[in-house]
Amino acid sequence: MRYCKRCVMPDTRPEIVFNDEGICDACISADHKQAGIDWDARDQQFRQILDKYRSDGSKWDCIIPVSGGKDSCFQAYTMKHKYGMTPLCVNFVPCEVTDVGHQNLQFLRDLGFDLIQVGANREVYRRMSKIGFHKLGDCCWPEHIGIFTTPVQIAVRFNIPLIVWGENSQLEYGGPAHAREAQILDRRWLEEYQMLGYRISDLVHDGFDPKELKVWEYPCDEDLHRVGVTGLFLGYFTKWDGRRNMELMTELGWHHNPGGPVEGTYTDYENLDCKWVGGLHDYLKFVKYGYGRATDNACIDIRFGRINREEGLRLAKQWEGKIPHKYLPDYLRFIDCSMDEFMATMNRFTNPYIFKRDEEGNFIRDVNGDLIKLDYGFQE
Ligand SMILES: [Zn+2]
Repeated sequence: MRYCKRCVMPDTRPEIVFNDEGICDACISADHKQAGIDWDARDQQFRQILDKYRSDGSKWDCIIPVSGGKDSCFQAYTMKHKYGMTPLCVNFVPCEVTDVGHQNLQFLRDLGFDLIQVGANREVYRRMSKIGFHKLGDCCWPEHIGIFTTPVQIAVRFNIPLIVWGENSQLEYGGPAHAREAQILDRRWLEEYQMLGYRISDLVHDGFDPKELKVWEYPCDEDLHRVGVTGLFLGYFTKWDGRRNMELMTELGWHHNPGGPVEGTYTDYENLDCKWVGGLHDYLKFVKYGYGRATDNACIDIRFGRINREEGLRLAKQWEGKIPHKYLPDYLRFIDCSMDEFMATMNRFTNPYIFKRDEEGNFIRDVNGDLIKLDYGFQE
């Protein structure tokens, strides 16, 4: 395992690219965002585009997909107050909403926004989550699809062509060059990055009736063309900084995680809306790739110069890689899974090159049941 020499991202991250100096593409992108982009020109370009989409009052001007998190609230706020647009916010209801997640959607409406919530059949959700967990190692698989399909469905239904997404995660966290440059988020993007190669049509082979899967379907090309659906990333046109978004929203009354940091990291302002995303989803990433949410947060904080690399390493070691306990019993009850079955699935997805094993090849766990990373040390 090799680490970026500037941040703390390991080369096990899917699709990460290091340059000859051993610096990751996300760090290079961050430099470019700071110095290499004419943000005023981008702002002008964005205003010109928006003028084409402003409605005559017969409908909303654009759609904003929202979780109620700091970033989506910031998106809505910025579109309204900086760009003078009247957005319709669309929320795909997570499987198991937290109290603070509910409060923050209330906050968004109090801030002056209309909100449509799309809640999927929970029984289908349960079966999909089970497949996501046992086959793909992602307990939030149905949610990752729903948050991308439902705003597009609403765009088609209400004849609102423009969808404004937040940051381009490939730009912020690294990823293939063509995805970093892309401004538009289309069906190809969804299938490539969100669905882990498992398509909705595959679910028919798992005994699903296509009629049960309407919420998770991307609209057909004919409908997309008729409405002219266009997705843009606000993060392409205005410099994106998650922490600044959080600070601005906090001033306006947005709620942090009430119990302090979310399981698996040191921050209390991310992944608050769904009970499974904060803990279990990030832990699955840790067993697969050897890094978790604390590493993601630390990398961003390092790139913004808020902490140094040593502090980032310390935070990652301290906070990530622990089996999440807070909501695990709820999740296991939801997908009807015993602790033994859960551990068997975890072991299947655990990377044998990253964690210690005994002579029989079984993973060694500490007194808390947590995995132990091989002693490769961090490269300086
Ligand atoms: Zn880096």
